[in-house]
Amino acid sequence: MSDHIVLTSHHSQSSKEQPSNEIHWGAESPEIRGPIIASLTTPQHRNAIGTHSGAYAIYRALAVASGTLDRDHRPDFTNTAPAELIGPHPQWGDPDKIVSFDPYGHMAPAVFAKQSAAGIDIRPSIAVTKAHINMPELKEAMSAGRLKPDGEILFENGDVRVTKAAIDPVWYLPGLAKRFNINESALRRHLFEQTGGMFPELVTRFDLKVFLPPIGGMTLYCFGEISALGKEVTRVACRVHDECNGSDVFGSDICTCRPYLAHGIEVCIEMAQQGGVGLVVYNRKEGRALGEVTKFLVYNARKRQVGGDRAETYFARTECVAGVQDMRFQELMPDVFHWLGIKRIDRWASMSNMKHGALTAQGIEVVERVPIPDELIPADARVEMDAKVAAGYFAAGAPVSIEELAMAKGRELGV
Ligand SMILES: [Zn+2]
Repeated sequence: MSDHIVLTSHHSQSSKEQPSNEIHWGAESPEIRGPIIASLTTPQHRNAIGTHSGAYAIYRALAVASGTLDRDHRPDFTNTAPAELIGPHPQWGDPDKIVSFDPYGHMAPAVFAKQSAAGIDIRPSIAVTKAHINMPELKEAMSAGRLKPDGEILFENGDVRVTKAAIDPVWYLPGLAKRFNINESALRRHLFEQTGGMFPELVTRFDLKVFLPPIGGMTLYCFGEISALGKEVTRVACRVHDECNGSDVFGSDICTCRPYLAHGIEVCIEMAQQGGVGLVVYNRKEGRALGEVTKFLVYNARKRQVGGDRAETYFARTECVAGVQDMRFQELMPDVFHWLGIKRIDRWASMSNMKHGALTAQGIEVVERVPIPDELIPADARVEMDAKVAAGYFAAGAPVSIEELAMAKGRELGV
């Protein structure tokens, strides 16, 4: 790599000479689709905007700047291949089904071995491994007799055997624009502007159709045989969970996130023990994708407002701070089900009408919706639950009354 700063905003002579690197998104085979080349060590071959590892690219820049990482470092992928095979599934050959990540992301070094051998720096955007997980809630479920160890999926000590996959986002911009029914050039312009002009190629290089955005991706936790997915006969249980660090990790009691996640895992283990497959999809979309700073500001606004923390003003307080109630855009969420070949979810551990609507809009059938059991809802989280049910979330019980919504149910700040 030269010491000159190379501007990427316009075609260089060398990239004009590399038409073979064109990406044919949604092609029937990886050979025709072609590799996503977003690494920086072979800039003449790049056919994508942005770079690998999302927001962590900034730490990579710090590592190079501080002299701890050689900017020309090429990864050695020996023994890093997926611990379980996933796909290909027929959905991979449809450019409209998966638009927010690369379906060949886990296979990249293998299926594009020829290009790698020719010296092109091709990196995986998905990794698949195996693990044991252990959560106190699952031990409680065992003590209560709801879950029973089988020595295969769930063990006596509470360990659960899982296959897990980490997926980095890879956006096919024309497909994303189509999914949202917006203009691709408008999408590119706003991505350019809202990142402070971070990626000029968004507005100067319309020939580059793929963007690796600097955002968090997702993690899949699969219970049971992942190879059984994609078969009509396989029953599937699922929880799609959007990150909530305060509750998920620290047990903060203002929301139902961790209790619902633990309940979802319980539903997944049951399904795996019955010969089906359980799936938890964990999306890095903290605080409805508004971020944790916004989230904590909203908590203060909710608890300090006149009349106390109550369901009737739950969404309004978020809107005051963020301008919207939610930025998670569940429209992209179904991609992962297409990737796994799933057309039907038999047990769906979620009450969200937005997630449910996004799945059915993508032609994925939801057979049974499983609400969180009432006894798992923390006291301070009653405000959230009542507000969501009143706004159209799926619930088994009677609708919440206007009087109920107006009652302050959350703790005051500092109590
Ligand atoms: Zn939460």
